[in-house]
Amino acid sequence: MTQQGPPMGPFCQSCGMPLSTPEDFGTTAEGYRQNDYCHFCFTDGAFLQPDATLEGMIEQVIPHAVQATSMGEAEVRKMAEENLPRLKRWS
Ligand SMILES: [Zn+2]
Repeated sequence: MTQQGPPMGPFCQSCGMPLSTPEDFGTTAEGYRQNDYCHFCFTDGAFLQPDATLEGMIEQVIPHAVQATSMGEAEVRKMAEENLPRLKRWS
């Protein structure tokens, strides 16, 4: 099992998704790029799920992260439970 290096960022401050291309970023109400959140979480100046909870977000990101990485679900869950509470939206 290879250990991943430290996250390079930037990351969505809601779901922890890496923001690597301009299309990954959310948008403000004026249509400008929003640097803190991804477009799945924040579009046109508002959260898509304004009532989301940290626990609910962790459950949502796990299947995506399992698919995007070669890690197993248990490992992804551990990472999500460690990292998501530190993000701006949940702290
Ligand atoms: Zn996000």
